[in-house]
Amino acid sequence: MPLPCLPQKELEANQSMRQDWLDRNSDHYHFDHNYLPGMPLLLTTDQGLPFYENFSVKYITERLAETADLSINMLAVPFTSFWDPFDEVKDYERFFPILHRPGIIQTFQTDAAFAEQRLCGVNPVVLKKVEKLEDYFPNTPDLFKKLQTEGKLPSNHNLDQMLKDEVLFVCDYRVLKAVKGGNYDKGRKFLPKPVALFAWISSGFSDRGQLVPIAIHDPEIDRLYTPFNCDANTWLYAKLCVQIADGNHHEMITHLCRTHFVMEPFAIATGQHLAENHPLGILLRQHLRFMLFNNQLGRQRLINREGPVDHLLAGTLPESLQLVVDGYESWNIQEFAFPTDIQNRGVDDVNKLPHYPFRDDGQLLWEAIHKYVKEYLSIYYQIDNDLSLDFELQDWATKLTSPGGGKMKGMPSTFTSLADLPALIELVCTVIFICGPLHSAVNYAQYEFMAFVPNMPLAAYSNVGQDAEKKTISQAELMQILPPPKRASEQLSSIYILSAYRYDRLGYYDDIFQDPQAREVAERFRQELTVIENRIDERNARRLIPYPYLKPSLVLNSISI
Ligand code: MN
Repeated sequence: MPLPCLPQKELEANQSMRQDWLDRNSDHYHFDHNYLPGMPLLLTTDQGLPFYENFSVKYITERLAETADLSINMLAVPFTSFWDPFDEVKDYERFFPILHRPGIIQTFQTDAAFAEQRLCGVNPVVLKKVEKLEDYFPNTPDLFKKLQTEGKLPSNHNLDQMLKDEVLFVCDYRVLKAVKGGNYDKGRKFLPKPVALFAWISSGFSDRGQLVPIAIHDPEIDRLYTPFNCDANTWLYAKLCVQIADGNHHEMITHLCRTHFVMEPFAIATGQHLAENHPLGILLRQHLRFMLFNNQLGRQRLINREGPVDHLLAGTLPESLQLVVDGYESWNIQEFAFPTDIQNRGVDDVNKLPHYPFRDDGQLLWEAIHKYVKEYLSIYYQIDNDLSLDFELQDWATKLTSPGGGKMKGMPSTFTSLADLPALIELVCTVIFICGPLHSAVNYAQYEFMAFVPNMPLAAYSNVGQDAEKKTISQAELMQILPPPKRASEQLSSIYILSAYRYDRLGYYDDIFQDPQAREVAERFRQELTVIENRIDERNARRLIPYPYLKPSLVLNSISI
């Protein structure tokens, strides 16, 4: 690895070599806006990617070894029938003769575990503060009032008061509107799109309390379920609808779209415009490592016809992919920078919502990454000219924001003076946070929350609850909604393959920094991460359910899986 150098400062003797490298390299990277309509992704060509983008030998051998337990496990699963529903939920526990049994098996039907998953589950980015109930329950304020006057809401559930206290939160899955439902070998699949209402109920002791589910609304039949107005199985059904919706939202929007795919333009523009020894290129390549190759593999083996998304998720394949497109259209890199997203969802106030592990641990990592990026870029960008004359950086930003290139919304298209450096730091910090902490949090939590299928099935296999006339759901009907054994085993396998292996660790790189100053900055970053690791361990010791997914030692540098 050569010494880092801005292009305008490159020795004259090296300039043509630098340009040759860039020309050769950039030949491999082109934008494609047609694979998913309007989305800037990598154009697949016969030429393929440069060798260093492919999984390394270390990656392949280690990942294969980590995944070996899966086939032994699946051979040891006792089977009755492929497609007939199981008799009881407990039967799904048979899928773990060898593999680790997720802890959620013990608690998944409780309201506490249901609410806790909004705060530290696999998809902890949906919960929003309620400003106006009518925004989420257009026809139902009267329904709430009726429940209240009939005494069917507990006395501490005064909605007007809770609204005033700003302790009402909502998960709104109407954004999944593109999905009508696909088919499987024996019939149709369905996707409920409910709106779930929660309240933070303080216990009166400092930060203690808990998030509780208040109501779940099915807009399609305008039916309001609460733990107080329906029997146990029917309430389980309502919560199951939320879990199914959340699983689809997680895989297509949070995980595939808003980590894997929205980062592709950065990898493409970096490959095209930042030379091997450009300081920003050196840093970013570590955090974009293997991603393009991994995403291409995903296109071939996850979102292909008869592949896992087609089989397991609720929609037809085109419907599920439409969720990716919808999730992209409502995303931009500025609004989804970690602290901004937390603020925009109104969940930033620790007095109103004292317990939110994803927010609190994420904040520590955001601050550490921000400081690291600031110190690193400040080594190279010290005066206005350092930025304005850096033509590789300007080309990079132009390509990222141009309509024919990365179409990146929410980032500047030029960085021309030192006054623009904070914006560049913010941008690079956001990229590293999404590639590292955010992706790891939503990727590696998949096993705990999705491997045991009754907690989070990815589709409903019966629409029995969609009958507006039907007042209650029986145990047998619940079992018909859950995926049949064949699909459940496929869900476990796919989830296991996606979350069993960790390639590297945030802040730990191969020997990439030749510059002693950069080495020092990276070393300080690792020390900071160790402090954060200890703080999260302390927090987890006090939490009822530990949240391990943002422990720095479990976070990767890049979206490599
Ligand atoms: Mn992933």
